[in-house]
Amino acid sequence: MADSELYDLIIIGGGPGGLTAAIYAMRAALKTVIFEMAAPGGQVNNSDSVENWPGDEHIGGAELGLRFAQHAQSYGLEIRQEEVVGLAPGLEFHTVQLADGKSVTGHAVILATGGSPRKLGIPGEGEYYGQGVSYCAVCDGFFFRDKTVVVIGGGDTAAEESLYLAKLAKQVYIVHRRDELRAGALLQQRVKAECKIEILWNSIVTEIEAGTDGVQAVNLRHVQTGDERKLAADGVFIFIGFDPNNKLVPAGTRMNADGYVVTDHTCATNTPGIYVIGDLREKYARQIVLSAADGCTAALAAAHYVETRKAAEACELPADLISS
Ligand code: NAP
Repeated sequence: MADSELYDLIIIGGGPGGLTAAIYAMRAALKTVIFEMAAPGGQVNNSDSVENWPGDEHIGGAELGLRFAQHAQSYGLEIRQEEVVGLAPGLEFHTVQLADGKSVTGHAVILATGGSPRKLGIPGEGEYYGQGVSYCAVCDGFFFRDKTVVVIGGGDTAAEESLYLAKLAKQVYIVHRRDELRAGALLQQRVKAECKIEILWNSIVTEIEAGTDGVQAVNLRHVQTGDERKLAADGVFIFIGFDPNNKLVPAGTRMNADGYVVTDHTCATNTPGIYVIGDLREKYARQIVLSAADGCTAALAAAHYVETRKAAEACELPADLISS
């Protein structure tokens, strides 16, 4: 193994969590590399405007992502635009396998691969994303004050986000494909008691229509009668589930039933030296500021872990005796 391939810390994923981890790692003098296939910034690049990042009342998502990356690079961070295809934990080092067949090794690894909201795949969904189509009420709800919005889905997320949107919007229509919500009983009660929310049962959205000012209407189909109609709306919020990007999570890592990694309060997994942060980690809410906070926590914990290992190696202690 050539020295150049051995890092103190390898970060996989260059969103707000990964880049914040990189900032803290570089400031802690860890030899760090970050792998990000796309432009640094991750999902934040897809947000037209971010209004809940403290210190910036309004900032474009792509600009915020670029600022994170520039900040991290100001410490000399190595950013590699390469695809990671595997992560093999080891007793002494962890090995990160790359798509070109090469690999790099690190004392510690932070997985920050995030996740993706499930897509409906209907006409207009991709075209008008950011122009009225959204997957995050906390991020975009404010743009729909006193307007009419459609929420698609019937689970806990759809119910919670509908209640959030009802505080801002004039009218919220929940479009659900069945005749009962999947959401928990208490949430269902609250949704049904909210006078600004109307549930359109046994219905699906078949198309989202927009004009020059963004979304204007959705086309609905009743799944039992087949009846079709158009519903005027300014925004469409889709909450039909979220898929954590957990393909690189090594076998044996503790995950919950939904595929999120369970960590301790330092973002450490049950494999010493492997940390998981951001949307891939089981947590209460998925927000930029929380991913950044995870990045800070994991980098500080990783720095402590790496220093402890190096000190122990200098004393020639066997790897399995070195605790995390
Ligand atoms: P979810 O529970 O999987 O619900 C997804 C909803 O979207 C379901 O109502 C489903 O309909 C609907 N749906 C799925 N695919 C669809 C499609 N192609 N077209 C139309 N509708 C579709 O997802 P979630 O609400 O994001 O929740 C994920 C997990 O997080 C759950 O375990 C949930 O309990 C948990 N969570 C908990 C809280 C909380 O406790 N406060 C808050 C948020 C999330 P069907 O019902 O017909 O399948």
